[in-house]
This record gives sequence, structure tokens and C-alpha cells, in this order.
Amino acid sequence: MRIDIITLFPEMCDTVLNESVIGRARKKGVMELNCHQLRDFAFDKHKRVDDTTYGGGMGMLMKAEPIALCFEHLCETLGKRPHFIYMSPKGRVLTQQRVRELSALDNIAILCGHYEGVDQRVLDTFIDEEISIGDYVLTGGELPALILTDAVCRMLPGVLSEDVCFEEESHYSGMLEYPQYTKPSEWRGMAVPEVLMSGHHANIEKWRYESSLLETARLRPDLLADLTLSDKDRQLLRDNGFDV
Ligand code: SAM
Repeated sequence: MRIDIITLFPEMCDTVLNESVIGRARKKGVMELNCHQLRDFAFDKHKRVDDTTYGGGMGMLMKAEPIALCFEHLCETLGKRPHFIYMSPKGRVLTQQRVRELSALDNIAILCGHYEGVDQRVLDTFIDEEISIGDYVLTGGELPALILTDAVCRMLPGVLSEDVCFEEESHYSGMLEYPQYTKPSEWRGMAVPEVLMSGHHANIEKWRYESSLLETARLRPDLLADLTLSDKDRQLLRDNGFDV
């Protein structure tokens, strides 16, 4: 997979993407990540990437032409058109399901907005999808783009040590992950659940499934509506005081 981020702050994105799990996978060549400086595509006299908004208002808006030229250059370089995402608080809020779908694509380009956002005409012309990372507003699209890139890249084969790493995690199956514990087995008077130290794999699996279900009911009851609950699941939830 190749992801291209179009931004006014490529160094900020590169710095984050060179760290930790994603940085190691990037160095191994598991995926290709490129951060493009939008200013390099501002060819007017003053090399401007932003201007005032028609209709008045305080803020500045990102101009259409540098974005168009940058995207067209990218398409030429790739020899094809990448799926083009604009990070935007107006977009559909990102989910693990969408992350999974995007991780199956070969090429993604991500536009990071800044200031008051982006001239609508360039969005209408080029953008395939607007994605939000939540119903709040940030100063720029760089952090959202990094979040999307991280979430997508960690699903690629070879990034995590084993695929099971994400298959058991929160949201993959629609539930939250079960609670986890590490050494020591007793900490400040609190013991790790016996079953986890029993070595009995079937019982551990059962405990993890049930704990996932209860954790979901406790922390994100809204997610239960999308789960197919068995009679046993419902009984477990009722036994633990949840109304299903
Ligand atoms: N005026 C815009 C509005 O009200 O919808 C907000 C612009 S915001 C200050 C600047 C940029 O930050 C946006 O163009 C977008 O790229 C990014 N951004 C801000 N909040 C975001 C969010 N929740 N999800 C994704 N991107 C976001």
C-alpha cells in the first residue's frame, strides 16, 4: 500500500510516521508513506496557498489550484488515481470497519485542511470521501490524517507481529477488548483473575469472550445494538445487571 499525505506541515507528519510500530514497518518497506508540501504547488506570484473567503468572515481558506496541481502531479507519478480523502469535521466519523475497508486499497491520498478549510470547488472536483475523526474541530487535518494512516497501516500484513493482534482488539468484532493484566500477579492487594493463570485455553477463551461482552455493556452500551446476541449472551448480561 502507498499513502500520500498532502499538507502544509509535511515534517510534522513525517516525524510521527517515523516512530514506533509504523516507523519500523515503513523502514522495512511494508508500506510506502509520503508527505507532500502543498506550498511546492503554489505557482502564483506570491506562492499563496490561502486567501480570504468570499462573502466575508475572519478566516482564510485554502486555495483550490495548489491542491489540484498537487493531486494531478500525484496521479501522474502513480500512473493512476488514488482514492482521495479529505480529513474534515463534516465527514463521516471514522470506524474500524471503514479502516478495514481502506486497508484493502493500493493507493490512498489524504488532504489535510487548515485555517477555515478548503475551497469547496476543489473538494467537489477531486475528493472521493470526507472523513472525520470525531464531532469536534481541530486546527488542522494533520493529526486526523496521522490517525487515519496509523489505523490503516496497522492492519497491513507485516506491521503487527501477528494478525490476531488486531483481530482480538476493541471494535474489530464490534465489541470492546477484554481487560488485560501483566506481572506481578498481585498488585496493591488486587489479584489477576485465577482463570488467566490456569493455562486452560478453553476457559481463558470463554472468560475473554464474556469479559468483552460485559466490558462493552459497561463502557459502550450503544454498541450492543449492532451485535447478534445469543440467549446465553443475554442471560450473562442480565445476570450482571444489564437490561437487555
Ligand atoms: N471551518 C471548518 C468547519 O467548520 O467545518 C473547520 C476547519 S478546521 C479549523 C481546519 C481543518 O482541520 C479542516 O479543514 C480539516 O482538514 C481539519 N479538521 C478539523 N477537525 C477535524 C475533524 N474532527 N476530523 C477531521 N479533520 C478535521
